[in-house]
Amino acid sequence: MDFADFADRVADIEAETADLEITTLVATLFADADDDLPVVARLLLGRVFPAWDSTTLDVGPALCHAALARAAGPNVTPDDVADRLADAGEIGAVAESLDLGGQQGLGAFGAGGRDPLTVAEVNDRLRDLAAADGSGSQDHKVDVLFDLFNRADPPATRYLARLVLSEMRIGVGEGTVRDAIAEAFDVPVDAVERALQVENDYGAVAVRARDEGVPGLTDVTLTVGRPVRAMLAQTGTAADAVDAWGTVAVETKYDGARVQVHHDPAGETRIFSRNMEDVTDALPEVVEFAETELEVPVILDGEVVAVDDDGDPLPFQEVLRRFRRKHDIERMREEVAVELRTFDCLHVGGTDLLDASLRERRERLADTLATHVSPLTLTDDVDDIADREAAALSDGHEGIMLKNPESAYTPGKRGQNWLKRKPDVETLDLVVTGAEWGEGRRANHLGTFLLSARVEDGGGSGDGGFATIGKVATGITDERLAELTDLLEPRIEGRDGTEVDIDPAVVFEVGYEEIQESPTYESGYALRFPRFVAVRDDKSPADADSLSRIDRLVE
Ligand code: AMP
Repeated sequence: MDFADFADRVADIEAETADLEITTLVATLFADADDDLPVVARLLLGRVFPAWDSTTLDVGPALCHAALARAAGPNVTPDDVADRLADAGEIGAVAESLDLGGQQGLGAFGAGGRDPLTVAEVNDRLRDLAAADGSGSQDHKVDVLFDLFNRADPPATRYLARLVLSEMRIGVGEGTVRDAIAEAFDVPVDAVERALQVENDYGAVAVRARDEGVPGLTDVTLTVGRPVRAMLAQTGTAADAVDAWGTVAVETKYDGARVQVHHDPAGETRIFSRNMEDVTDALPEVVEFAETELEVPVILDGEVVAVDDDGDPLPFQEVLRRFRRKHDIERMREEVAVELRTFDCLHVGGTDLLDASLRERRERLADTLATHVSPLTLTDDVDDIADREAAALSDGHEGIMLKNPESAYTPGKRGQNWLKRKPDVETLDLVVTGAEWGEGRRANHLGTFLLSARVEDGGGSGDGGFATIGKVATGITDERLAELTDLLEPRIEGRDGTEVDIDPAVVFEVGYEEIQESPTYESGYALRFPRFVAVRDDKSPADADSLSRIDRLVE
């Protein structure tokens, strides 16, 4: 498929406002995509790689602006592109407004010229670009992007630019793609959903649905080394749990960071975050632990916690100093020790356990690993649960988890089968979407941060954007303000006086006293006395608290 044809179809999808029509347009595109189906399914979600693969293109705005400016000719500079972006608000519109193309002899390489771009070629070139590393890689990336922009006409330039920055913004979320796969190839949505949970690749699942139908979707198995999304919990009370299930599995809720450990004795050990990001290099002692203790291929679910010299838990902030760290790992390892606590297992020695009950999975876990398994108690007594909660808190843990012993493991789902009891004051995880420069002594720092809740699109993981809910300025030391400024300044997208817009990427945990209804913010709510608690490095905007959760809290 020519990329120009793909872009025309995407433009039709973007222009459509009725959800069902959008799904049908996407389904028709899938049905026509032939060999390009896997790539098309991913590109619609702004992805070049499958969801399980945390490889990124690693192209920042500056690089994209440089490539666009070069393709627009000698009269346009990267600063001009940035200025246009401040006016237009999104890079696709900027790319489309520039007269790109036909630049000769300015470092165009490969075939150059104006050969029509195909979807496959765009995909291959972006994958090569992602692999570029080391000295000269930035120049190489600009060259590749220049060549692509130089050969594309609007509206292809619009979607190319958005794709390069991993944001399609066409109103198509994961739920839409799932429904469109079902519609295009006449298979039940549930079967598609389940295959997606296991395989985490919209492209591969679309091909299975088309070529093998339901049997192909049902046959999908886990692969050691390929992560799945973590199963999630709702908040609930001990009485809710006893009423719903009779017998309740009670576990310690560790105050750490979620990890999925994939260990293959004949291969390697990889560790993934709850968002399937590869964090192996940051946690060498967990790798050493797995290599010493595990003898068969397994996928374990658990939490890494920071511990003191006696093995007692340290606060969550300590784990975050280790999690995802890319430099000085050995030095930090001396300062903060981390340990694994496991509480579930998804696969043991060739057998997938997603459909097995928690009871059975726990038996397999106990057979597989002799230590570092979270204790589990089965009880039907609400008072017993309260005692265990008090004991967990006095041991320095975050609280307890209540689980349905008969339930299956449902990746990525915040279902009714896992409940978290968190007795401390609620906090919210909100996305930073704006900020204000400080005054006086704090003039060089961003001082006040605009916070937004996630808006779901009704299906999948939400592509509905963000709605503002408040501003936080208290609870932040000068030193922390400097760190936050370093973190957020590169993500500034537009400014108005001292106020700036920030690309949604960073999640803050904030405490508050109350949520009030208020016309001031887009969400219709405002936080009373918000205070900064922490940067949630382990969460992406897709994991931030949603507006519907806030609706429930207010109720
Ligand atoms: P929250 O981050 O508040 O949504 O709470 C859910 C998180 O608690 C999970 O994603 C895990 O990271 C963490 N957690 C700690 N202990 C457990 C446990 N025993 N079972 C499940 N999740 C746990």
